[in-house]
Amino acid sequence: MTTRLDRIRGGMYGLLTGDALGVPYEFSAPQDIPERRLIDMSPPPGFARAHSSVPEGTWSDDGAQALLLLASLVECQSVDLQQFTESLMDWCRNGAMTPDGRVFDIGIQTRQALENFARYGNPLTCGPNQERSNGNGSLMRTLPCAFIVTSNPADMIARARRQSLPTHAHPRSQLACALYALMAWQMVEGRTPIEALDYAQDTLQQGVDPGEQAELSLILDGRLDRSQGSGYVVDSLWSAIRCVLATDNYEDCVREAIALGNDTDTTACIAGGLAGVLYGEQGIPALWRHALQGRSIVEDVLARLATSAAQEQY
Ligand SMILES: [Mg+2]
Repeated sequence: MTTRLDRIRGGMYGLLTGDALGVPYEFSAPQDIPERRLIDMSPPPGFARAHSSVPEGTWSDDGAQALLLLASLVECQSVDLQQFTESLMDWCRNGAMTPDGRVFDIGIQTRQALENFARYGNPLTCGPNQERSNGNGSLMRTLPCAFIVTSNPADMIARARRQSLPTHAHPRSQLACALYALMAWQMVEGRTPIEALDYAQDTLQQGVDPGEQAELSLILDGRLDRSQGSGYVVDSLWSAIRCVLATDNYEDCVREAIALGNDTDTTACIAGGLAGVLYGEQGIPALWRHALQGRSIVEDVLARLATSAAQEQY
């Protein structure tokens, strides 16, 4: 039986570990990914690893941005877009929330959004909002929304959508983040993944304006498509959720996500966050926990969360 604190710690470490585990396999086609039991922090000999100069166990943009969002939520008690977007700039320029100060991975849309922010300073308008601008770059950092206590699903939907705005402003990206946050929130509260997913879908359908129902239907219909582990937000969401539903432990879940190939670090990050909530920190293999770089950064943010007024229900 895990406690709420176990689930939150597990979620954060699950996200970061999945991201770090997926980094060497990023951009590989599924047929080039090693067999599942060989998927590890260091790929088997002979594998052409991505980001070959990055030390084993280093999280990428996904993990850094999720940590920034958690820190921002704790500090501001809500999504303060100005503060949060400035912190994204601090990551991009100075390597904030990275284990070694290096930024080695940044999405095209996020780069464009931060360039817009640097030029105009408006977090409400800097995020691209074209239909083609629906990468998974805001979904990958959404999880911490689920860690801040609320009893109101409308709060959860609003904060998940709002944190997406500065980089991924299209309604599809916002709604995908909301679906994921609702599901993660219910899992933090102790529901099973399938109960949490059903709740998230029902709640979002009731909470979305008529003008956005078509976008939401498009997202929900993605449940029927084959998982591709791509960077498209709808595929990424369902690829990750399916890995959680299809496995019964953390290790198999994130290996399943990486075996899809393509955007491996992000699929494993999105899936690993949920799996970490489900199985707790101790459910993450010890070897992987010990291999993760930058643990003191994570502990610092988690300590701030634990002492913040937002956490009254430990
Ligand atoms: Mg990444």
